Amino acid sequence: MIHFPTRIFFGQGALLQAASYILPLGTKPLLVTGRHSARLSGALDELIVVLDRADLDWELFGQVGENPSLDTIVAGAQLLREKGCDFLIGIGGGSPIDAAKAIALASANALGRDELYQTDKFKSSLPLVAIPTTSGTGTEVTQYSVLTDPVRGIKAGFGHDLAFPRLAICDPRHTLSLDPSVTLNTAIDALSHLLEGIYSRKRQPLICPLIHSGARAILRHLQPVLANPKDLKSRTELMRAALYGGIAIAQTGTTLQHSLGYPLTTAFGMPHGLSNGIVMRQVLELFYPALREELDALFSALGLSLSGFEAWLEGLSLTAKLELSDAFIEKSVSEVMASRNMANNPFEVNAGQIRDIYRGLR
Ligand code: NAP
Ligand code: FE
Repeated sequence: MIHFPTRIFFGQGALLQAASYILPLGTKPLLVTGRHSARLSGALDELIVVLDRADLDWELFGQVGENPSLDTIVAGAQLLREKGCDFLIGIGGGSPIDAAKAIALASANALGRDELYQTDKFKSSLPLVAIPTTSGTGTEVTQYSVLTDPVRGIKAGFGHDLAFPRLAICDPRHTLSLDPSVTLNTAIDALSHLLEGIYSRKRQPLICPLIHSGARAILRHLQPVLANPKDLKSRTELMRAALYGGIAIAQTGTTLQHSLGYPLTTAFGMPHGLSNGIVMRQVLELFYPALREELDALFSALGLSLSGFEAWLEGLSLTAKLELSDAFIEKSVSEVMASRNMANNPFEVNAGQIRDIYRGLR
């Protein structure tokens, strides 16, 4: 079964094409952004022109940090209420867009800070438009929102059909301002999603062509973008790959690969994509024997063998100097074992296998 309710506008000028679909969503949008990227990318100014032309009042909530915390969601929901907004437009990377999803649900269902993961309380939502400025998370087409709970010290996501954006507006020009490190980390996040679309026991043969095509785009176009950040053709290909990654995980969920990364981000502030990247080879090798046929089909589409793919990955030099104490590893093993993505693994992964992967990072 495939369920996919988001209307996608893709390519240069996507925002203008989408204007007639944005305006009927409500009378006053809350624009949810990070501190700088919405302006730097050009997306915010472009959107404001569209809203002002239509005489639509709007309010800005422009303080979403990376890996948004539950407190940010509460503050956003409060502003939305005070200013009388009735729909949301998230602009940015995964952090502001995930925050916008949670603010929409918190507002529509009058949820408090401790109820934001309680999906049984999600009865309705406010309309949401997603305008990505990174090519990574695919959140513009997923039903997930990943938040950080600073009190419990954990990062975890929720998934609910009501969290799907109504519109995804993907203009690769909005990614031209990304620096090489965010470009690399977000592309690796997209590649993780594409691989996890294969790893997951909910895998859908119908979307395999998208997965193969997305992975091929990253292998061909990541290096050209790193060499020339203004290469719009290759930026377009990376944005397409990220979109396909989102379409994949919307059906399949993520797996061990993502669960391993969350503790590294919470404890060390490691960027989300990098935390996936540093365990990508180990997870691939763990799952390969169980998924030989599916993964060989991918590698054949890439024109590479498993070892050729690993050599490409090695060439990206995704490393991090980590002091992983035994106590940290044991705490993280429990966290990973309890994470909801683990139900999607192709077979039951045990604590010893997780421990070995973390120890391999020391
Ligand atoms: P991000 O945390 O949204 O942004 C990373 C950095 O890039 C920020 O400093 C941001 O600046 C900057 N930035 C974004 N766009 C830019 C642009 N066009 N030009 C210059 N700088 C730009 O990064 P992300 O990797 O896209 O999102 C990661 C989050 O998404 C994590 O919390 C992750 O867990 C989550 N995620 C969600 C899903 C899902 O399906 N919902 C899937 C995977 C990951 P500002 O701070 O100014 O914005
Ligand atoms: Fe991700």
